Amino acid sequence: MSDCIFCKLANGEIPTAKLYEDDDFSVILDANPATKGHALILPKAHYADITEMPEELTAKAFVLAKKMGSHLKETLEADGLNIVQNNGEKAGQTVFHFHIHLIPRYADGPCIVANWVQNPLSDETREEVITKASVKAL
Ligand code: 5GP
Ligand code: ZN
Repeated sequence: MSDCIFCKLANGEIPTAKLYEDDDFSVILDANPATKGHALILPKAHYADITEMPEELTAKAFVLAKKMGSHLKETLEADGLNIVQNNGEKAGQTVFHFHIHLIPRYADGPCIVANWVQNPLSDETREEVITKASVKAL
């Protein structure tokens, strides 16, 4: 994608603060970090979101999230770690090149967990979702 900023950042066409790279991914610092060490895992190939990602690359991305997230938590002496991955505008995605947020959390840091409103599961919704979304194999 010639006009995708994350394609350019992931492939080194635009200089950026890079923490790690391998054949498939770059890990860079978010330009507007929620906390110290907020990083983004970007595949070098362009996929708009997780629904477009090949399974093998998706698996690699989440293994990398575990490894890099653990590494950030340890080296930055964080107290916790959020792994966030948004798909679609309604889910909060603003850059439409798949990415995983790694957000180290600190005991004295800001509270940034998504604060969704929770309501008890109704009988009607439970039956609808079970009917539509139950699956025997994926
Ligand atoms: P989303 O809301 O799509 O899940 O997250 C997009 C993230 O990309 C945001 O946290 C935003 O700060 C970050 N971002 C947007 N443009 C740039 C950029 O040009 N460079 C870097 N390093 N991060 C960016
Ligand atoms: Zn892209």
